[in-house]
Amino acid sequence: MESNRTDLESILAAIPGEIYWKDMNGVYQGCSDAQIKLSGCSKASEVIGKTDYELAWKNSADQLRRNDLLVIKTGKLMTFEEIVTLDNGAQIFFLSNKAPWRDTSGNIIGIIGSSIDISAQTQKQLALVEQVHVAEHQKRITEIFLKNVISNLPDHVFWEDKEGRFLGCNDQQAKNIGFEKAEDIVGKTIWDIAKKLDWTDEMIQNLRANDLEVMNTGKTISVEESAMWANGVTRTFLSKKAPLRDDHGNCIGILGLSFDITELKKIELELRREKKQAESANLAKSDFIANISHDIRTPLHAILGTAELLKLKAHLPEQSELLDAIIQSGETLSKLIENVLDFSKLEQGPEHLPEELIDLESLLNTLVLPVRKTANQKGIDIIIDYPRHIPRHLFSNADALRRIFINLLGNAIKFTHEGSISIHVSIANASENTVILEITVKDTGIGIAQNELNHIFDRFYRANPSYQGKYQGSGLGLAIIKKIVENLKGSIQVESCLGVGSKFVCTLPFKFNRHATINPTPKYDLMLHRNTSPKKLSVLLVEDATLTQKFSISLLEMMGCNVQLASTVIETLQATKKQFDLIFMDIGLPDGDGLALIQELRKIPLHTNTTIIALTAHAGAEIKSHCINAGANDFLTKPASYKALLTCINQYLK
Ligand code: ADP
Repeated sequence: MESNRTDLESILAAIPGEIYWKDMNGVYQGCSDAQIKLSGCSKASEVIGKTDYELAWKNSADQLRRNDLLVIKTGKLMTFEEIVTLDNGAQIFFLSNKAPWRDTSGNIIGIIGSSIDISAQTQKQLALVEQVHVAEHQKRITEIFLKNVISNLPDHVFWEDKEGRFLGCNDQQAKNIGFEKAEDIVGKTIWDIAKKLDWTDEMIQNLRANDLEVMNTGKTISVEESAMWANGVTRTFLSKKAPLRDDHGNCIGILGLSFDITELKKIELELRREKKQAESANLAKSDFIANISHDIRTPLHAILGTAELLKLKAHLPEQSELLDAIIQSGETLSKLIENVLDFSKLEQGPEHLPEELIDLESLLNTLVLPVRKTANQKGIDIIIDYPRHIPRHLFSNADALRRIFINLLGNAIKFTHEGSISIHVSIANASENTVILEITVKDTGIGIAQNELNHIFDRFYRANPSYQGKYQGSGLGLAIIKKIVENLKGSIQVESCLGVGSKFVCTLPFKFNRHATINPTPKYDLMLHRNTSPKKLSVLLVEDATLTQKFSISLLEMMGCNVQLASTVIETLQATKKQFDLIFMDIGLPDGDGLALIQELRKIPLHTNTTIIALTAHAGAEIKSHCINAGANDFLTKPASYKALLTCINQYLK
C-alpha cells in the first residue's frame, strides 16, 4: 500500500472491513485495504479518483449512488442494506453505515461509509424466509385441501360453539338446511335453524341434549338423531359428536359428523318385520306339531297301555306275541312323534337348561335298568364302568343327560346282536370346580361305514341297513343328541368299524363341589309283576279320564303300589289329608287347574317333600318348566306308559 498516507489514513486503511470516503460526485477519495481487495485492485491509487461506475461493482453503482445522495441530502447517518454484484458474478450483501463528510466549517463535502459483509447471515435469513414461505404455502394448501374435502363430503360436517352457534359447516349441511353457501350459516344458532325449518321441540331438545352431553363429559358420542330438512323431509342420522377444543385443550363447542341412515333404517325395519313374521310362522309350525303330536299321542298311549295290560293278563303265547307286535309298533310310532316334537323344539333355538345337583352314576344306572331286560333277551350284557375316583355328585341338567344317553343306549341295543354294550366314564380334564367327563357308549354291533360317519348326525339321515328297512327309526335321534350336547356346551364324536362296533364319545363339562352330595332317598322294594312287596308304595293318582284311570291303576298296582284315585280338585284335597309316597297329578282337571293344586299342596307341611309327578297331555316347549315352577318334581306325558311310570318310580323312589 502507499507510503505517503497520513497516520489516520493508515489506521482507517487497516481496519478489517470496507471503509471508504467519496466526494460529492461519488469519486473515491480514500478507502481501506479491504475495499481495495474487494475492487480487485492492488493499491489505493487504483481506486481513488474512480466512481462506483468504474469499479468491480459497477452493476450495482446506481443503488450505491442513490444511497450516497440520500445521506448528502438529509445530512444524517443512515444504514442501508446494499446488494453488490461483482464483475465475476459474486453477490455480496452489505450492511452499510453512511454518514455525511463535512469540512471544518461543517459543510458537506461527500460521504464516509463503512460496509460489513453480511452475506452469511443474509443467506441464513433468506433460507429462513424461504422456509416460512414454504410452511405458509403448505398450510394454505392443507387448508384448501381440507376445505375441499369437507365441502365435498356427502355427509354433514358442522362445528358449533358452546351456545349452539354455528362456527362452520360443509356445503352439504348448508344446502340441506336451506342456505346457499356454508358461510351463510356462520353465526346462526341451532334455534334459528329450528325456527326456519319448523323443527319440533322434541327434535331440538334431543339435538341440544346430545351436544351438552359431549361438552359436559368431553367424550365423543355416537347417537341416532332425526331432523327435518329444508325440503320438509325428516331424515334419520347416525351422528358422531366430539368436543371442539382450543389450543389449550379447553372445550369450546362441538364438532359433528352426521351420516344419513334413513334408508338403512327402512331396510332394518323391513328385516325386523320379516324376522318377526318368520318367527311367528315358525312358532305356529311348532304349535301345530305340538298339538298334532298330542292328538296322536293320547289315543296311541291308550292303545299301548291297554295292550300292556292285556299282555300282563294274557295266558296264551300267541296272544302275547300279537300284543308284543302292537306294543312294539306303538312304541316306534310314539318314539317318532317324540323325536319330531323334540327336534322342532330344539330348532327354535338353544333350550335353557337349568343346572341341578345330580348323581351321575345313579342316573346312568337308572337309564340302564328298564332296557337291561331287552338287551339280556338278545344275549347282550350292559356294563357301566364308573371309576371310583370320578366325582358322581355334579351339576348339570338331568333331563338333558337322560335324553342323550337313553338315545345312545337305545341305538346301541338296536344295532347290536351279540357281545356287549358298555358305558365308560373317564376324566378328560379337571380343575378346582369343573370336571370335563368323557362318557363313552360302546357297542359290538353292526358298525357304520366310514363314508357314512360324517352324515349320521344330520337330521333324518339313516345309514345303510337302517334305510333299507332292516331297523326302525326316524334318523332324528343323533341330530337331537348333538343339539342337546351342544346346549350343554359339550361335543360328541363317533368312531365305528363295520361289523366290529361303534363308539359314541360325549365330552361334557360339569361343575362340581366336593362337599355337595345328594341325600339318599328311602329304598322301596318294588315288585314289578307281582303284588307281594313287603312294603307297598302309597300312590295317589289324580286323573279324570276313565280309560286312563283304569290302566294307570292296573299298571301301578302291578308294580306293587297301593293306589288311591282322585278325579277332582275337591277329591284330591280330601285325599291329601294323609301322606303319600308319590302323587301323579293330571294338570287339566274338570274343576280346576292341577298346577295351582300342586302349589297348594306344597304349602301343606305334610306334602313339602312328597314326590309329585305332573301328568300332562300337552307337549309344548314351556310345559315342563311350568310344572317344575309350580312345585312338581317332574312331569310325564299322559297317559303314561308302563315303562314311563316304572322309570319314574325307580328314579324318584329307589
Ligand atoms: P335312528 O332313529 O334311525 O336310529 P339316529 O339319528 O339315532 O336315527 O341314528 C342315525 C343312523 O345312525 C341310524 O339310522 C343308524 O344307521 C346309525 N347308527 C346310530 N347309532 C348306531 C349304532 N350304535 N350302531 C350302528 N349304527 C348306528
